[in-house]
Amino acid sequence: MDNLTAPFVCFSCRKQFERNWDGKENYKDCPECGDRTIRYDHKFRVPKKSDDSEWKKIEFLRDHGFYFQRVYDIIEQGVYRYAFYPKDLKEAKEFVIKYKQFSIDL
Ligand SMILES: [Zn+2]
Repeated sequence: MDNLTAPFVCFSCRKQFERNWDGKENYKDCPECGDRTIRYDHKFRVPKKSDDSEWKKIEFLRDHGFYFQRVYDIIEQGVYRYAFYPKDLKEAKEFVIKYKQFSIDL
């Protein structure tokens, strides 16, 4: 059986760590600073450490329950299309309202 892994993100270090994951646990201690890291979806791509605006957007999304899990547009009943994550904070503010039903509690 394959080991399940997931990216865990430390906002203090601005890094992600690929860690073993039991399919349930959403928090682990950061291996570098000891702060709490949060499990993200595999689609998450960690921005550069110095990219403040990108990190602000990700923190904003996190605070609204978005961890790069899949989000859909419903075209008509039974027909879905994957929605793209927002490019910047301005778009993120609209995104969290539009896709509120897909937000999750970790
Ligand atoms: Zn850390």
